[in-house]
Amino acid sequence: MMSRAELQGVIGREPKPGHHVLSVYLDVQQSQASRLARGFEPALRGMLRAAGLQVRTEEDRKAFDASAERVLRFVVDYNKPGAPSLVMFCDATEPFFWSREFRVPVRNVVHWAEAPHGRPLLELMDDHECYCVALTDRGRARIFTVWLGEIEEHARAMASDPVCRSRKVGADQMRSQAGVQRRAEHHSHWHLKHVAMVADAILNTHAFDRLVLAGPVEATSELHRLLPRRLRPRLAPAIPLAIEASEQQVLDAVLKLEQVVERDAEMQMVHEVTVTAGKNPQAAVVGDEATLKALQAGRVWKLVYADGFAAGGGQCKGCGALFVDRRATCGYCGAEVEAVDDVTDRLVERAVASDARVRIARAAAAEQLRKHGGIGAFLRF
Ligand SMILES: [Zn+2]
Repeated sequence: MMSRAELQGVIGREPKPGHHVLSVYLDVQQSQASRLARGFEPALRGMLRAAGLQVRTEEDRKAFDASAERVLRFVVDYNKPGAPSLVMFCDATEPFFWSREFRVPVRNVVHWAEAPHGRPLLELMDDHECYCVALTDRGRARIFTVWLGEIEEHARAMASDPVCRSRKVGADQMRSQAGVQRRAEHHSHWHLKHVAMVADAILNTHAFDRLVLAGPVEATSELHRLLPRRLRPRLAPAIPLAIEASEQQVLDAVLKLEQVVERDAEMQMVHEVTVTAGKNPQAAVVGDEATLKALQAGRVWKLVYADGFAAGGGQCKGCGALFVDRRATCGYCGAEVEAVDDVTDRLVERAVASDARVRIARAAAAEQLRKHGGIGAFLRF
C-alpha cells in the first residue's frame, strides 16, 4: 500500500532548472469490450498530441517528445488493467519515471510543467480517509490499514503479543477449573490491552482517520473500553468478522462501511451548512449567488456542492470574475462577460486555488442540498 509520504514526496519533487515533468492521469477502467480494444491508448495519444501543441522551444520539444514516448511505451506494455486508474510522472531527460495504479477513479489529465501536477492526487488523498482495522477475538488479533481502496496487513506489529508467547506455559501450570478461567480472562485482558497499544502505535506511523473494531462482540466491546483516549474520536461503527477472514473480506467490509460513514458525514455537513447559513450569514452561505460572492471575496474555507450540480453563467474577460447569471458586462470592472455553459469547474478550481476544501454531497445529502440551491460554503471569519 502506498503512503501519504510517498505521494507527497513525488508531488513535492524539487523542480530542476530548465527541466519539465510530464504528468499523466489516465482512466484505464473500461468496459470489457473497450478494454480489449484498449480505448485508453488512443485517448492518451490524443491528449499527448494536444499537450505537445503547447510546447514552444526546440529544446523543450525534444524533452517533451522523449517523455511522451516513455509514457506511451509504458502504457502500450501495460496489460493488467485491474485497477481503474494509472498515474505517471516522467522526465525522460533525467531520467525520472514514476508510475502507480490506483483503485479509485481519476479523471484524464496530461500536464507538462516544471513540477509534477499534484492537485488531482492531493484531492484524491483529501477525499479518501485512511482506516485502521483491529480484527480481534480474546486470544488472537490482526491489524490492517485500508486507504485509497488498498489493504495492508501489519503482521509484524502483532508479532510481539505477550499472550501468544506465554500461552503454552500457562496451560501446563493450571490446576483448578477456576484457575483456568481466571487465567484465561487475565490473558485475554492483556491481549486486548496489547491490541489497543498496537493500534495507538499505528496511528503514529499511518495517521489513520478512522478506527474500526472487528470481531466477536465480547472482544470488540472490551477492546473499546481499553482504547487510549486519542483513538476514541476516530472510532467508526464496529463490524462483525471472523478472525480468519481473508484480506479481501476485510477490505470489502471496510469499503462498505466507508460508504456509510461518508454518507453520514455528508448529511451532517449539509445539515450544518444550511442551518448555519440560516442563522448566521457571516459563517455560512447557501445558493449559487451567495456562494459565488463569498468565493469572489476569498472568504470560502469549505465549498460544498451536490453531486451533478451545474450552473450556467459567465466569466469576465477582464478580471476573471465568475457569474451565475447571463450578464453582458462585469459588475466588478465593467469588461465584457463571456458566457460559460457550466461554471462549476471554474468555481471549484478557484476554491482550490484559494486553499479552500471542496466536498461533494452525494445521494440523500445531495437531495437535501438541492433544496437550498445545490451549493453552499462555510466561510472564513
Ligand atoms: Zn471584471
